[in-house]
Amino acid sequence: MNRLKLLLSICAVVFLFSQISVAQNQVERVLLNKVERITNDEFRFDTETSKGVRVYSVKKPSSKMLKAIDDGLTQLFTIARKHKYSKRLNYSDYTIFIAKADRTKDSTKQYSPDIAVSAAQYAGSIYDQGGYIYAAGMVVAFNPCAFIIAEHTKDFQRVSNVVSYEGEHIVLYHNDRQLYNKTADHSKGGGHPILQ
Ligand SMILES: [Zn+2]
Repeated sequence: MNRLKLLLSICAVVFLFSQISVAQNQVERVLLNKVERITNDEFRFDTETSKGVRVYSVKKPSSKMLKAIDDGLTQLFTIARKHKYSKRLNYSDYTIFIAKADRTKDSTKQYSPDIAVSAAQYAGSIYDQGGYIYAAGMVVAFNPCAFIIAEHTKDFQRVSNVVSYEGEHIVLYHNDRQLYNKTADHSKGGGHPILQ
């Protein structure tokens, strides 16, 4: 648990959208372009999990990846309901991008597929790798609810955890803005899970 918490203690939140008023498919296209620019990846595959999460990916996603995504959101929604949250607790509210992993092992040689993202608020911190950081996941939009994770070929429990942890930021944004503000930036301390 400690190791897991440490591994996932950083992730990045980027504001691309706060208010969206254009047609849904146009939103998806704009979002896709932004994510392609952030990751330098091309998301050729567009699919849906069995519970209805929209998934864009670089490679054809494995059934284990898709199931891990559903499981992660199930985990999140269960905890969120315990806190009496009600907004954005539908699988179809979420769009998840599966990017190419920019590394598959962390500095301690543990399997840890992560994406490299611009350091932004982590610049100069211990996470800073020289202008970028490795993140397990990254929130890219709140309307629609969207985030990026890295492709895994094993340890699918980690995928579920990353999904539920990135989703935490989004659920908090819509249900408890104060707690969201306090926990969005991990460079000031604190990691996941935020909700117990
Ligand atoms: Zn986070």
